[in-house]
Amino acid sequence: MNQQLTISNLKVSIEDTVILKGISLAVKPGEVHAIMGPNGSGKSTTAATLAGHPAYEVIGGEVTLNGTPLLELSPDERAQLGLFLAFQYPVEVPGVKVQNFLRQAHQARFAEDESKQFKKVIDFRKHLKSLAAELKITPELLTRGLNEGFSGGEKKQLEILQMAVLEPTYAVLDETDSGLDIDAIKKVAAGVTKVTKKHKTGVLVITHYKRILEYLKPDFVHVMVRGKIVKSGGPDLVDKLEAEGYKDWNEVTPA
Ligand code: ADP
Ligand code: MG
Repeated sequence: MNQQLTISNLKVSIEDTVILKGISLAVKPGEVHAIMGPNGSGKSTTAATLAGHPAYEVIGGEVTLNGTPLLELSPDERAQLGLFLAFQYPVEVPGVKVQNFLRQAHQARFAEDESKQFKKVIDFRKHLKSLAAELKITPELLTRGLNEGFSGGEKKQLEILQMAVLEPTYAVLDETDSGLDIDAIKKVAAGVTKVTKKHKTGVLVITHYKRILEYLKPDFVHVMVRGKIVKSGGPDLVDKLEAEGYKDWNEVTPA
């Protein structure tokens, strides 16, 4: 079988404006790919389209997850295939406790896989606590309202815990480093690495700074400018971008 997350010539518009103009890339299990690019280049649009956000209209191309066409599936069906998305701006849901939210997410993810289900709440809570301990996340976070009054670092820790709970086949992390200090970035990167190594997750990390990539160590780097991938290469591309910026491509890529 075709074991990879494949994006082929993906074209996406928002309210009749074409944002993605033909994106192609393939992520294999266990690989880390980075998408870098200036603000407004279409990075979050790529993540939102993979998530199945209704505002983003696919006008061409296709996406397959281990051979299954993804774009016609609902967000829940995508999650059941093990696609995980962490967003730039996590939502706050004060009335819902973290541990209950994560139990629901776990049930939705493994609805079709009895071997992964926990019949009793208490067994899920034990599992959750052991995952939190592995990631050095304080158990106090589990009984708080979802993201309610969380610091930027705590919100990201929760995302990593959610990722551990969902055991993703592929994970898309959109600007997971934004607003974090260097210690928080290190902790997040260590958590991502731990979870994704454990499950051989293919990772697509979206960022416009090099910092998190020093710890996540991408195998491949893709540069997105104005809705296109203008260059793909190895990790050494990160240093080139940090030194030279995106100006080369801004000048040669027509609007
Ligand atoms: P990036 O994440 O690379 O900074 P985005 O994917 O968020 O870029 O945005 C790409 C382009 O699409 C920008 O020009 C942005 O203004 C536009 N865009 C993004 N989301 C919307 C939306 N919901 N409605 C209208 N335009 C949008
Ligand atoms: Mg963005």
